[in-house]
Amino acid sequence: MLRLPPLRHEAPGTLDEAVALLAVDGAMLSAGGTDLVPNLKRRQYPDAATIVSLRRIPGMAGVRVESDGSLHIGSLTKLSSLAEHESIPLVVREAALSVASPQIRNQGTIGGNLCVDTRCNWLNVPQTWREAAEPCLKAGGETCWVAPAKKDCWAVSSSDLAPVLVALGAEVQLVGSGGRRSMPLEDFYRNDGMAHLTKGADEIITGVVVPPSSDMRASYRKLRRRGSIDFPILGVAVVASFDDDQVCTASRIVLGSVASSPLRVPEAEEVLVGRPFGSEVIAEASEAARKFARPLNNTDLTSRYRKRMIPVYVTRALGDLVEG
Ligand SMILES: Cc1cc2nc3c(=O)[nH]c(=O)nc-3n(C[C@H](O)[C@H](O)[C@H](O)COP(=O)(O)OP(=O)(O)OC[C@H]3O[C@@H](n4cnc5c(N)ncnc54)[C@H](O)[C@@H]3O)c2cc1C
Ligand code: SF4
Repeated sequence: MLRLPPLRHEAPGTLDEAVALLAVDGAMLSAGGTDLVPNLKRRQYPDAATIVSLRRIPGMAGVRVESDGSLHIGSLTKLSSLAEHESIPLVVREAALSVASPQIRNQGTIGGNLCVDTRCNWLNVPQTWREAAEPCLKAGGETCWVAPAKKDCWAVSSSDLAPVLVALGAEVQLVGSGGRRSMPLEDFYRNDGMAHLTKGADEIITGVVVPPSSDMRASYRKLRRRGSIDFPILGVAVVASFDDDQVCTASRIVLGSVASSPLRVPEAEEVLVGRPFGSEVIAEASEAARKFARPLNNTDLTSRYRKRMIPVYVTRALGDLVEG
């Protein structure tokens, strides 16, 4: 059995206290803990000293419909609540329902899901296995074992909600020692496996704002080995609007789990806009997505197979938007 290392546990009652605790070296924030705790048990964070839990802070969970039709989702809202909430767009509910298992969805939160650490076959193993080789870049060494010729970490963004909420144009609200701010979720990510979030270490997501989407059609398709419980090894989120003649007027296509951040595919989005929606443009957009993405051999199944699945999953997701 893997055990946690010795750690202090703090459960502040206010956001201000949490921000102050997070400013200290070695502090790590915990929401549901379903990603953090296994990573700690595998000794992926050797500098961790204190866990700062958000769970005693009131008012951090729940969904509110704003007067302009947008949704405010508190960052501690559980994935299971999200999946059941009638005001939440169906595509978000389905993506939430595809995460892990019922037990984990009852514990895991939307904020934690958006910040879930990047994953790699070399790193997400127990410490004793990792010690069979020199530490890789992300573990403090000098070489990335996935792409040794480069000086970057390519660990994989593995959140199901991130590509969907980027495609819907969501924003995150943050609080930290520098005050409060909001930013498009798209800008919250950086394609760097070691530092995939652009937020500061003491910044906490307080909420997620999803703009009105009732005039859009959307779909999320997820590739994984086991349908019952598995991280995505490819996620395809598509959102588009159409005029009365079924001509696409706007689109967003976002790939998850092919890089260290969710990736929008502008080449594929442009193919759709201004043209009647059907099998011809869907095939062109799917091919554009295939050319765009370069999955590596650091998660389940081979990179070659995952690359071949990109046009298949984009075709399926866009096919979900065809009316009738
Ligand atoms: C067996 C298993 C299967 C899984 N399958 C999937 C899957 O299919 N899809 C998927 O997307 N995930 C999966 N996960 C990962 C995880 O369970 C979910 O992503 C979950 O939603 C994480 O939420 P949490 O609240 O538990 O996060 P935590 O573990 O508490 O936190 C995760 C990270 O986010 C940070 N964080 C948490 N909340 C905030 C906040 N409000 N502001 C700033 N930073 C924050 C933490 O510091 C930590 O770095 C799986 C996990 C396990 C163990
Ligand atoms: S991609 Fe490379 S540096 Fe990053 S975790 Fe994997 S082996 Fe380590």
